[in-house]
Amino acid sequence: MTTPDNQGPATRIIHNRRHKDAFGSPYSPVYNTTTYRFENTADLLDVIEGRSNGNLYTRWGTNPSIQELEQGLARLENAEAALGFASGMAAISATLLAHGRSGIVCVGDLYGGTQELLKNHCRALGIPVTFLFREEQDRLAETLNEPGKLVYFETPANPNMAILDIRAIAETAHQNGALVAVDNTFASPINQKPLELGADLVLHSATKYLGGHSDLTAGALMTSASLAKPVVAWRKNLGQLIAPETAALLSRSLRTLPLRVRQHNENAMAVAQAMEQHPKITKVHYPGLPSFEGHELAKRQMTGFGGMLSIEVKGGQQAAEKVADSLNVFLLATSLGGVESLVSQPSATSHHGLSREERLKRGIGDGMLRLSVGLEDAEDLIADLNQALS
Ligand SMILES: *Cc1c(COP(=O)(O)O)cnc(C)c1O
Repeated sequence: MTTPDNQGPATRIIHNRRHKDAFGSPYSPVYNTTTYRFENTADLLDVIEGRSNGNLYTRWGTNPSIQELEQGLARLENAEAALGFASGMAAISATLLAHGRSGIVCVGDLYGGTQELLKNHCRALGIPVTFLFREEQDRLAETLNEPGKLVYFETPANPNMAILDIRAIAETAHQNGALVAVDNTFASPINQKPLELGADLVLHSATKYLGGHSDLTAGALMTSASLAKPVVAWRKNLGQLIAPETAALLSRSLRTLPLRVRQHNENAMAVAQAMEQHPKITKVHYPGLPSFEGHELAKRQMTGFGGMLSIEVKGGQQAAEKVADSLNVFLLATSLGGVESLVSQPSATSHHGLSREERLKRGIGDGMLRLSVGLEDAEDLIADLNQALS
């Protein structure tokens, strides 16, 4: 007999439920409740004092809709525990505060919001934060000069899809008494499972692929039960819990995640191959292309190459802007991971605050456009790019 432990991800997530519903509904209803009544004070004290696992108050995380979501999130990354948050940034900030207070060492490019959090807020709290370029990875051990630090990175990273070696970084970190957190938003748990490669904490902006329809804001942490515990306390007292309605909506999205990601992968590969042949494109950054710098590493640690890619348009910033403004099927918008395709120009959005020199140093060319390839018909996406490029 198959059990959730040996089933595939689609079966596991489609059959993710915690309760047998009295009316036969295959999934839990939305528990729009903030509180729970008790028969007597003794029962209430049992929960407050930790002798029983009952629900007390939703902000603490004890809500059936949220707990069902969290069981599903844990299943997707094969994690012992998962926590749902009101946003990706809520998941990241709670995790950094719970596990990064002795110091955080970042490797490679990071999401803009995470950079702000680290540079402005973590440093304001007195937390030492170090940034290493991807090319400076060999300095990782020396920056972990005292135990208890947290190594933090993203792979593939925004916007040039740079790949970092999760297993190698985790090994160095662990040898030096550090924990490892990976933002797995771009890959999704279907394409990459950092916990199985040695990471300790995996973070997601569930606003992206996990939600998948650009209609909800949420975040997730997948980790061990013991590392989750202190994060639960920060989440509770910072008030960062996901709402039950959003949790139920996200649970619904997760049931199609394996299917959606497979199609995102296929469409992005088709777009990447077409763009690689296009005379007006000087470079395509897509982990699935053999010409891509990180391709071999991506093949080793990913099971699919994702729906994100970036292209460099001949003629620089203005030419790229013209292409972005001429696309019809691709919508000009930030964010990623939804069913609809999106285009954005990193120099005008995520990396607008950097000087041209800094951008070039990070491998962000003047004519770069980032594409979040959606679930439309691939030939329509390619036709849209072709008409915009001409
Ligand atoms: C969007 C994003 C975040 C932040 O998530 P929110 O849900 O917007 O708070 C963090 N990391 C990455 C890689 C992202 O793309």
